[in-house]
Amino acid sequence: MRAPGRVRAAALALAARSSEPVSAYLYDLAALDRHAAGLRAGLPPAFELFYAVKANPEPHLLQTLAPHVHGFEVASGGELAQVRAQFPQMPVIFGGPGKTDAELALALETGTEVIHVESRSELERLAWTARTRGQIASVLLRVNLRVETLPETPLTMGGRPTPFGIDAAEVPACLSWLEEHPELRLRGIHFHLLSHQLDAGAHLRLLAAYAAQVRGWQAQHGLPLDLLNVGGGIGVNYRDPQRPFDWAAFCAGLPALAAQLPGVRWRLELGRYVTAGCGYYAMQVIDVKRTLGETFVVARGGTHQFRTPAAQGHSHPFEVLPVDPWPHPYARGSHEGGPVTVVGQLCTPKDVLAREVPVSRLRAGDLLLFPLAGAYAWNISHQQFLSHPAPAMVFLPLEERESMAVGPGGLVQA
Ligand SMILES: *Cc1c(COP(=O)(O)O)cnc(C)c1O
Repeated sequence: MRAPGRVRAAALALAARSSEPVSAYLYDLAALDRHAAGLRAGLPPAFELFYAVKANPEPHLLQTLAPHVHGFEVASGGELAQVRAQFPQMPVIFGGPGKTDAELALALETGTEVIHVESRSELERLAWTARTRGQIASVLLRVNLRVETLPETPLTMGGRPTPFGIDAAEVPACLSWLEEHPELRLRGIHFHLLSHQLDAGAHLRLLAAYAAQVRGWQAQHGLPLDLLNVGGGIGVNYRDPQRPFDWAAFCAGLPALAAQLPGVRWRLELGRYVTAGCGYYAMQVIDVKRTLGETFVVARGGTHQFRTPAAQGHSHPFEVLPVDPWPHPYARGSHEGGPVTVVGQLCTPKDVLAREVPVSRLRAGDLLLFPLAGAYAWNISHQQFLSHPAPAMVFLPLEERESMAVGPGGLVQA
């Protein structure tokens, strides 16, 4: 998998301009625009697409996504404030554990469309906040549910004891409590049980289990239901990028699901699957060395800037962009054939981005370009560790004009 020419060219231009080795994030906004349009086009009419901002809150990405998504899902007061400042009118949903009273008040003040309530006590706090403000809050109950056929993925937020959501067994009691509290308007149920789902069939079966559960609550407890939020969790195949989640097959199965709940609007709040593909992390090689039989490539930056491979425990795929000429008076380290382990500049053996990966040729000064770096990458990294300089941020715009690069020193032309 090679990056588009404009991404490779921008990375090479950045290195050519710099007298120091570079690290950078490059975002292909045109690719994001096409991808988001494709996601939206596949969904049947009963389905709405929200973007889970915590995957990557970069304002340029949100701007590119805004025309394609129904709205944004935020998980903190900080995300809420950022999204509201940038998009005063977009529908926003607010979820996540540990919302403070101030965050709940901010949600009501800024016209949040729906608040996803994570616990019975949060429900009571929100009712009090709404009552005090003289407002009615629209809510979904986030529910944790044991699903017999819960697919196995590397990250599960439910289906077993977790801090997320309300125990399904408590839902009937919440429903009767809500009948006494007109300051809260229950719109339906929210589930988000797992992430990293790569199997479209398994995801459809999970959504079918959600539908069966809410039909039961409708029939037995009169659950009001106009919204069913089935969360995010569609995965990105870092280990085998040629075999991605089959979006077309997933969408083909949705009309049959929608038919089980007539009149209900379904919501997806996807993060990783929306933005991972538009981002690239580039590192320039500083040193090539052999130690105790293994070849190590030490490059500018590291897991403090791109924590994704360390967080997920995979070898991240990358391509080598040869950089010529070699401007230095000393010899150029190089490696030909055989596997290399790619590490960053941190003084810890955990700073590994790819382990024992075969490369044909790699030299000091060459660039390594890691794809699938647009989600849970820069924003989940421990950026200050060791006080290395921040990576450059390059946003390749929708139109084919000069890109803008934001370096540590401000705005520069790429
Ligand atoms: C993080 C999160 C998402 C997005 O998950 P992805 O795996 O990035 O799609 C959606 N909903 C909730 C409640 C989340 O916490």
